[in-house]
Amino acid sequence: MSTFTIHTQKKEECIDITTRVAAALEEQKISTGLVNIFVPHTTAGVTINENADPDVISDFLKGMRAFVPDSGFKHAEGNSPAHIRSSLIGVSLCVQIDNGALVLGTWQGIYFCEFDGPRTRKVQIAFYAT
Ligand code: ZN
Repeated sequence: MSTFTIHTQKKEECIDITTRVAAALEEQKISTGLVNIFVPHTTAGVTINENADPDVISDFLKGMRAFVPDSGFKHAEGNSPAHIRSSLIGVSLCVQIDNGALVLGTWQGIYFCEFDGPRTRKVQIAFYAT
């Protein structure tokens, strides 16, 4: 198991963590297997999306705001939209490992999604050799 911390800077943002996951994998010396990336938070998530055009991520966040309105909820803390967006995206992700590297498509990156920042966040990574 490997854990790292992210200090998010904005209310909502997606941070490319691919190189951090790859660096953690490198320490494991696993040739073939799976990596599980887990975010232990209820107002954040983890996903895979395009890492070439930054407009994809800003459009993704715009789309999330369109799916889940910013107001009209009961939760007294006032961050129900972030809780809902977290559940929609999910808090864990499994990626295959082949030849000691993450199996990702050409344009795929692993993104930590902040929906109620700025905050200090954790990402936990578990590796499974097969
Ligand atoms: Zn809350």
